[in-house]
Amino acid sequence: MIEREQIEMDVVFVGAGPANLAAALHLKNEIVKHDEMIDKGLKFGNKVGEIEIAIVEKGSFVGAHILSGAVMDPIAIRELMPDFLDQGCPVDTVVTEDAFWYLTDTKGINAPLVPPPLKNKGKYIVSLSKVCEWLGEKCEEAGINIFPEFPAAEVLYDENDAVIGVRTGDKGIDKDGKHKANFEAGVDLLAKVTVLGEGSRGSLAKQITARLGLDHGKESQVFSLGIKELWELPAGNFPEGKVVHTLGFPSDTRTYGGGWIYGLKDNVVSIGYVTGLDYEDPMIDPHAEFQKFKTNPKVAAVLAGGKMIKYGAKTINAGGYYTMPKLYADGVLIVGDSGSFLNGQRIKGIHTAMKSGMLAAETIIGAFEHQDFSSKTLRHFEEKVNLSWIYDELHPVRNFHGAFQKGRWSALINTGLQFLTRGLAWGFLPKEHHVAGHERMQTVGDRQLAVGSRGPSDHLKDVRYAGVPFDKELTFDKATDVFYAGVAHDEDQPSHLHVLDTEICATRCAEEYGNPCQRFCPAAVYEMEESATTGRRELKVNFSNCVHCKTCDIADPYQIINWVTPEGGGGPNYKGM
Ligand SMILES: Cc1cc2nc3c(=O)[nH]c(=O)nc-3n(C[C@H](O)[C@H](O)[C@H](O)COP(=O)(O)OP(=O)(O)OC[C@H]3O[C@@H](n4cnc5c(N)ncnc54)[C@H](O)[C@@H]3O)c2cc1C
Repeated sequence: MIEREQIEMDVVFVGAGPANLAAALHLKNEIVKHDEMIDKGLKFGNKVGEIEIAIVEKGSFVGAHILSGAVMDPIAIRELMPDFLDQGCPVDTVVTEDAFWYLTDTKGINAPLVPPPLKNKGKYIVSLSKVCEWLGEKCEEAGINIFPEFPAAEVLYDENDAVIGVRTGDKGIDKDGKHKANFEAGVDLLAKVTVLGEGSRGSLAKQITARLGLDHGKESQVFSLGIKELWELPAGNFPEGKVVHTLGFPSDTRTYGGGWIYGLKDNVVSIGYVTGLDYEDPMIDPHAEFQKFKTNPKVAAVLAGGKMIKYGAKTINAGGYYTMPKLYADGVLIVGDSGSFLNGQRIKGIHTAMKSGMLAAETIIGAFEHQDFSSKTLRHFEEKVNLSWIYDELHPVRNFHGAFQKGRWSALINTGLQFLTRGLAWGFLPKEHHVAGHERMQTVGDRQLAVGSRGPSDHLKDVRYAGVPFDKELTFDKATDVFYAGVAHDEDQPSHLHVLDTEICATRCAEEYGNPCQRFCPAAVYEMEESATTGRRELKVNFSNCVHCKTCDIADPYQIINWVTPEGGGGPNYKGM
């Protein structure tokens, strides 16, 4: 039995992303305002006083694991800090020009009109990693405790299943599970309220959703995988402040996908591609889709003569309003991407994540005022969300992603109808509106039947990506890209990717799906290797490559991969991404 230190906090935030950083700062600021109003007799109620707030973050610093596009809608940060620019928020540049390109394999057509949800003029292009690093400094200045390199590994409950805090991960365990000389037991951080803001597919949010049934009566969450590179270009290739979104090539019409190019300062561009993880073809490889995207002549011309300088990949929860879990339970709130606050139609979640955090903070003040941290008080969070602009923004687009599960063309008709009907859009949705991606993946056999032997993938990955040179100039293999993600994990630790039954990998999965983990992972973590002992191909997990995108936990058709937090500080280094 390991002896663990217990540290008593009042509020613990899990994850230092925009949702929780905004939440913690807003909480600190609003308590001061609330108490002053009571002192001045301008408000009735109880004062909250000084409370201890902690944020735990698994990355080695705040921002290390933050990956985004990113065009930031400033609506939420302006509410949090009206003078955010004067206070030094590191925005890169302002969007001055929008474009929408429809791509084929040989052409790029500049659409005469940019769809209104993709108009971004006046918004900010940012490195979200830098913005979070800066918000982290603001939190520390306000007296909030931030603990980087502290993954929250487990949720702590009392005997009635109320959440009472989190246990952080142990350090110094070797690959066989034995304690090393530097062993340090994780601590129990106890809190009256715990806020989960772990981003897409949070590992604790997953645990608690299953245990408390927070997804009962909700639609299945659907995810996409966003893959991004930063490039330095020759002057004149692409203007600063220009934002391009693309549709078409290389996604087939049954697969959700689209690209972006954002022009930052100093001839740097953020370029990336999003592939829906609800694709049907088991041969799809989202990393290769992105590489293929760059071979379109209009895209390749932007990158000509340039140099790739950074790489990253991260999932996006795309389901929106219908797939939101219950956002509260006794002692706990769920915010940001973990709570499905992203607007899939705009591919924007920074502003909604921040606002959800701020509304959580206001709910927490009410809980301290009444000294009640149960669902009875915390349920006000959902009411606040539904009365805020988050509802006005997310509810009308609640059917956006679901429609893509019927194919691109019905989705586009649906998007048009959405405008007219505020999201009702009849007839172009699957029956359940959002079907989990792993349930939609076809077996290789079904795929062959569905498309015939000369279909788009011809059931062979090599055919689908035949035109991609992987030349290390324009297009890169996974190993090269992973190097540019700055990933580091101590190899002498147990793998944090728990494959619950590797026998399935070597048998059923090999036959039925051709081991899609080798393709859907954007970091070459999963390999099937010939084994001298068994004489068959067995799964090898290169966990030290993992970029913490969570794709494997989501996309595995048997749902036998469980992503848990590795030793603190391990993972990618997205500084400046
Ligand atoms: C490729 C891509 C492009 C995007 N482009 C845009 C865009 O242009 N505009 C826009 O508005 N939005 C965009 N988004 C979405 C946006 O980035 C997210 O909606 C937003 O970052 C969500 O914020 P969050 O705080 O909920 O989570 P995150 O930003 O994911 O932050 C979560 C933090 O929690 C930490 N964490 C997770 N689990 C634990 C744990 N158990 N213990 C400790 N720490 C933990 C993580 O390391 C991370 O630092 C994009 C997303 C992606 C992936």
